[in-house]
Amino acid sequence: MLEYVTEAVVLDKIDLAEQDSRVFLFTKDFGKVVAKITSGRKIISKLAAHSEPLNYVTVRIVDKNSPQLIDVLSSKKIIPGKTAFKTLYLIKEIAPENQPDPDLWEFLKSMEDKQVEEGVFIQALKILGFDPMHAKCNNCLKGSPDFFSVKDLAFYCKYCHE
Ligand SMILES: [Zn+2]
Repeated sequence: MLEYVTEAVVLDKIDLAEQDSRVFLFTKDFGKVVAKITSGRKIISKLAAHSEPLNYVTVRIVDKNSPQLIDVLSSKKIIPGKTAFKTLYLIKEIAPENQPDPDLWEFLKSMEDKQVEEGVFIQALKILGFDPMHAKCNNCLKGSPDFFSVKDLAFYCKYCHE
């Protein structure tokens, strides 16, 4: 059994059955971690309240067979907005689990208490290895594509973008 404390940003939270939930974190020390909050714990309402998406948190995780969130304390948060949610969703979908990434962590820290501008999404793409600079439309191969599809992990021009 492994127990650790690390700083993290909450990327997303999904409610499961019986008050359980699954929290997607990007942690400073371990990269992306998907942890479960299990009901039956008296402090579950506290855990749930602090582990909302966009929050900067300090988490305590116990990893027996899979990571479980056993304590969380939030401090600051990213200001909500379309680009902020899009960027966190991208990291949730693309970042590999249990692989620390200091650049991505610094990037997430830089979003603290700031209005997240459109260019931030492009920055995240670059850090994750999808630089739009030399990209082509996945369909017609035209250069300088306008959109990135997280679902397809591919760029599209405005004509091919559905
Ligand atoms: Zn195209």
